Amino acid sequence: MNSSLEKRVDQLRAQIRAYDYQYYVLDDPTVPDAEYDRLMRELIELETQNPVLIRDDSPTQRVSGAPVDSFKEVQHEVPMLSLGNAFSREELDAFDNRVRDRLNIQSSVSYNAEPKLDGLAVSVLYEKGQLVRGATRGDGHSGEDITENVRTIRSIPLRLTGKNVPERLEIRGEVFMSKHGFERMNELARKNDEKEFVNPRNAAAGSLRQLDPRLTAKRPLEMFCYGFGVIFEDVLPVEHYARLQQLKKWGLRVCPLVEVVTDVEGCWKYYQKILQLRDQLDYEIDGVVYKVNDTVLQQELGFVSRAPRWAVAHKFPAQEEITQVREVDFQVGRTGAITPVAKLEPVFVGGVTVSNATLHNMDEVERKDVRKGDTVIVRRAGDVIPEVVKVVKERRKKGARKIKLPKVCPECGNEISRIEGEAVARCVAGFSCPAQRKGALKHYASRNAMDIEGLGDKVIDQLIDRNLVANLDEIYRLDKDTISGLDRMGDKSAENLLAAIEKSKQVPLAKFIFALGIREVGEATAIALSDHFNHDLDAIMAAGEDDLQSVPDVGPIVAKRIAQYFASNNNKRLIKRLRADIRWTDSNVASDNAASDLLAGNVYVLTGTLASMSREQAAGKLRALGAKVTGSVSKNTTAVIAGDKAGSKLQKAEKLGVPVLSEQELLGLITEK
Ligand code: NAD
Repeated sequence: MNSSLEKRVDQLRAQIRAYDYQYYVLDDPTVPDAEYDRLMRELIELETQNPVLIRDDSPTQRVSGAPVDSFKEVQHEVPMLSLGNAFSREELDAFDNRVRDRLNIQSSVSYNAEPKLDGLAVSVLYEKGQLVRGATRGDGHSGEDITENVRTIRSIPLRLTGKNVPERLEIRGEVFMSKHGFERMNELARKNDEKEFVNPRNAAAGSLRQLDPRLTAKRPLEMFCYGFGVIFEDVLPVEHYARLQQLKKWGLRVCPLVEVVTDVEGCWKYYQKILQLRDQLDYEIDGVVYKVNDTVLQQELGFVSRAPRWAVAHKFPAQEEITQVREVDFQVGRTGAITPVAKLEPVFVGGVTVSNATLHNMDEVERKDVRKGDTVIVRRAGDVIPEVVKVVKERRKKGARKIKLPKVCPECGNEISRIEGEAVARCVAGFSCPAQRKGALKHYASRNAMDIEGLGDKVIDQLIDRNLVANLDEIYRLDKDTISGLDRMGDKSAENLLAAIEKSKQVPLAKFIFALGIREVGEATAIALSDHFNHDLDAIMAAGEDDLQSVPDVGPIVAKRIAQYFASNNNKRLIKRLRADIRWTDSNVASDNAASDLLAGNVYVLTGTLASMSREQAAGKLRALGAKVTGSVSKNTTAVIAGDKAGSKLQKAEKLGVPVLSEQELLGLITEK
């Protein structure tokens, strides 16, 4: 036998055992599951090719996990097994072929398809319908007695309800923590300066194995049942799916996504479907499980050392991977916020190749202690920006230095300030920092702000780098020659961009306020501000912090930011210059576009659906006659014009005694004159 092969096998076993200990006993894994799975597969492959190397105590031959001394031991009457894995369509087909071969079935086999919940396996024993024992899987033969802890989980009934409950019934299921429960728990841990859990699975495992059940009770744990141990007398239906439905009748919880599929093609479709749903679920799943639905066939198939032959886990692509940090860069955002970003050795995770991961802020860098050259676990789930979850400290090279916040802004060389108690450091240079200028302009032009099509990141970078635009208003002074002189800008694109810039001169006031990029002022706040102050920018600019706080959802911090923004002389000048070009479409400054002043001094509120025109059109006609149109009803409202399905504004008008006009009366108003 090749000794280097034996050496590799030994190495793999030792490494897997070490990871098992960290994962199962300490609930604190050091590497992502994908890395562990790779080692395990390599070991399985080497052993399959060289069966003489197989040992009884190899991790491939046993269910991993070990009971901790502090809990009483529980012997499992029916072993709690692990599952075989499939990572591809080929492996799924191979599983189905194996099943049908063994059963000698030429046609198809029905499977029960379920999400593979990423928590930990628990056995719950009921005697005469009463919960008498809860246990972890441990090594599959003996686990830990966690009865007291299990009793704190609300979704596990202490007594089963309904008819025909067997004398002894052992249920198996997965205890897990919801994603939102996990976030809340970690938030609390951060506040209290306690250790955070890496992911919901480890949080669930750590919580369930607390020696003090009062602590477990505080953790948001849940359980879905998916299997059985001892059943006496077995009054349950033959099919696995029907058995799960019976569990529901006895008051136990089963994952609502369980389904029966009639063949391997159905398994594949189910996999695709659940993969699509994955990010929307409030609990983590790492694949799906197919089980031969007929339990008589299950018995016929039996099991191998660590897993049943009648089931397989079809795993999803990993959302956590391992890679190296090449460098930590600092990026400057539009508000000057300095964000540390880890530049990574590219790695395929969550379905894409990732080479950057945000580190959020310096507090985060310090807490996670990320250093240049470190090996890290990177996570990318759904559309969320990739982030560094954890450093694999064991693999840190000697002398790796801590990351320090730069003394000056990497973009403009100005001072950086980090206010005591604030996590975010900022470049104080404001608009004189090119990165902030770029960020401000990108935000201004973005779809939900001024929506200037064609003024994208690449064009903006050039405009700023070449000093063609020094502030927001200067885009309105760009000419065709300047624009067509930019890289990859032909005459036609220059014309289109100019047309888009021209178009942006007419927007509702709320869009303009949002586009200014005032800190803490998002779209909703901008709309609330505009509505509250009757679309009058001067009124908003003149408002004090107290006035601002009377706007819905504006608290003291936001009010302060708004007031600060408008108090700045630079900003006042900028707005004055912008106003030379921009007209808000909902302006109440009558003289701007009113054709007559017949309704001058009148203030209207439109509500509900009008049959003959949109509310916008109606508002335009009223304004053209010199009236104001506002968003909220007050004593000063002349009348509320109520269309179909008018709601709270109509009620408020009635309460305040403000006259209410019908659409017919509105038409009279605007056509008569
Ligand atoms: P497994 O997680 O691959 O599959 C078996 C387990 O799936 C069952 O015990 C059960 O708990 C669970 N399960 C979830 N939904 C189920 C359902 N509907 N029906 C049946 N079972 C369901 O195997 P395992 O033996 O529990 O753990 C091995 C896995 O743990 C590895 O593949 C690896 O990903 C991870 N692990 C990671 C590390 C690490 O260091 N990162 C260490 C050890 C193990």
